[in-house]
Amino acid sequence: MENNQNTSPLLRDTVIKVDLSAIAENIRNICALVGPSAEVAAVVKANAYGHGILPLAPVIMENGASLLAVATLSEALEIKTAYPDYPVLVMGLTSDAYLPQAARYSVIQTIDTVEQAVLLNEIGEKLGRPVSVHLKIDTGFHRIGFPDDPDSIQKILTLKDLPWLSVEGIFSHLALLDDASNKEQYERFTRVIAYLESNGFHFRYKHIADSIALVDYPEYRMNMVRAGALIYGLKGFHKGFVSVRQALRFETRISHISLVRKGEGVSYDYTWRAGKDTLVGTLPFGYADGYPRNLRDKGTVAIHGKRCPIVGVICMDQCMVDLTNVPDARIGDTAVIYGDGTGNTVDIQEISELAGTNKNEIVSRLSMRPPRIYTYEQPAQKAEEFHHGSI
Ligand SMILES: *Cc1c(COP(=O)(O)O)cnc(C)c1O
Repeated sequence: MENNQNTSPLLRDTVIKVDLSAIAENIRNICALVGPSAEVAAVVKANAYGHGILPLAPVIMENGASLLAVATLSEALEIKTAYPDYPVLVMGLTSDAYLPQAARYSVIQTIDTVEQAVLLNEIGEKLGRPVSVHLKIDTGFHRIGFPDDPDSIQKILTLKDLPWLSVEGIFSHLALLDDASNKEQYERFTRVIAYLESNGFHFRYKHIADSIALVDYPEYRMNMVRAGALIYGLKGFHKGFVSVRQALRFETRISHISLVRKGEGVSYDYTWRAGKDTLVGTLPFGYADGYPRNLRDKGTVAIHGKRCPIVGVICMDQCMVDLTNVPDARIGDTAVIYGDGTGNTVDIQEISELAGTNKNEIVSRLSMRPPRIYTYEQPAQKAEEFHHGSI
């Protein structure tokens, strides 16, 4: 791997490496955990949580997922253009003006109004094929969804009269406050389903559990779960367990080394000053690559297996680290920005705590600028490397 770098067409030393075999293993373990009674919708919104949607999609589908779930129509069309046969659910709402596009590309759209159901029915009639939807029910989260009051539920029954609308699924979303509130939401959801089913509705898919719920609350798996963070090896569960490992590694190389004399400053406003003569390394990544700017004076990177603290303000494209722990560091040496915790690297859990946010925000904010490098490490076969350029 290392020796490829000099001839690499990536043109950048700051790269995001994704181990596709970790993604494959994670999805298989999730499928094994939920067993045959529930299917897995793989949540790949926000460019597959920063990992890169198009290279991951086939790995995820070929290792047991039934459906790819995204947040926006634009994300769905990116997948449908490359993989027209993969079923894709848009979990967010889509404005009326864009619904014809959703239908044309056979995207499964979430709806929460009768008006959009009627509109999609008309679009389906024009296309000459039914348009698939999942109904979102608001059980307390108050983000989107049909309210679960009797009036609203009564209105949902009218969707049965729309021949060009195919209602394939019904879902809700847990706020994950505590056991009691989860139970209340689940019961509100199942009451809605029971009423609709007793009035002739049939739903192929019913789902409420995300990554945390599908592990910690097996009783809420229904016949589909929505796994997001877990696919990428980002663990949020507390009670249950599933074996998953982080697939992403964020790396760069030292671009410059300065000897900063005692009392001299580094970066904007000289917020950091050398307490003694200090070797300072410059790394060519910054907040435009998706690294949180507020990690100034808190973040560290791993060089030669040693932690090196970031010093001074993090710039848009570069930042500086104190090389005191690695006096033999040279220009071109690798610095691990996010690793999996081995070799003294900072993992995504740790970086999210330092930045005062969650793991999903850390990865979904990784920008398009760092090229992604994909590896697939099979036991029998040595690492094979290819890249998906974004330059
Ligand atoms: C993002 C999202 C998920 C996946 O969340 P994770 O916590 O990453 O598993 C599931 N359902 C909905 C509606 C979402 O928006």
